[in-house]
Amino acid sequence: MNIILLGPPGAGKGTQARHLVETRNMVQLSTGDMLREAKDSGTEMGKVVADVMARGALVTDEIVIGLIREKIATVSTDGFIFDGFPRTLAQADALADLLEAEGQTLDKVIEMRVDDSVLVARISARSTCGNCGEVYNDETKPIPADGKCTNCGGTEFKRRADDNPDSLKTRLMEYYKQTSPLLGYYYAKGMLNRVDGLGSIEQVQADIAGVLDA
Ligand code: AMP
Repeated sequence: MNIILLGPPGAGKGTQARHLVETRNMVQLSTGDMLREAKDSGTEMGKVVADVMARGALVTDEIVIGLIREKIATVSTDGFIFDGFPRTLAQADALADLLEAEGQTLDKVIEMRVDDSVLVARISARSTCGNCGEVYNDETKPIPADGKCTNCGGTEFKRRADDNPDSLKTRLMEYYKQTSPLLGYYYAKGMLNRVDGLGSIEQVQADIAGVLDA
């Protein structure tokens, strides 16, 4: 089963995708993670996108579609979780074509709904384990007192450079302008499901499981 987790920055897409990877043997395809990796390893493409990402703007469709094309063609799995992709209508059309070319389908789109006020608070409190990517929150899921990641024991934690008020404003604008039209697009295709992203991590996990198992 191939699914899309759709929602604004801070909705909890990454956290939920990680849970699905662990429990359902699925593969998470996060274009944000792929782009950060390219940036950190200093590839030519990474250099091109660094500035755009720091501002919170969207990188070109061509670049992200290329990243997804390569993964879909080379990774074999029971199911992809698209996290942070597609973000534009052009990307949504490209995804449909790429899946079709591999004889695959897109099965469900899950919108994670969260109030803007909560997004700002979540994002400013967010950090991740530098080793495994486990997500922490200063308020709701603090880094353990012994300084070790609960998932892998790692001791280095990172905050994203674009998790700051200026970039976040741009990221939210981009979401409403470019990505939210995808809700209508997938609704019209009969694929859209909604979950309340404001509940506890466990509650949202249960709601998503309900959608996937329906
Ligand atoms: P994310 O980790 O999904 O929040 O993505 C971080 C940043 O990477 C975004 O603010 C964009 O600059 C860029 N990015 C990630 N995915 C996409 C995408 N599908 N289309 C365009 N830009 C993207």
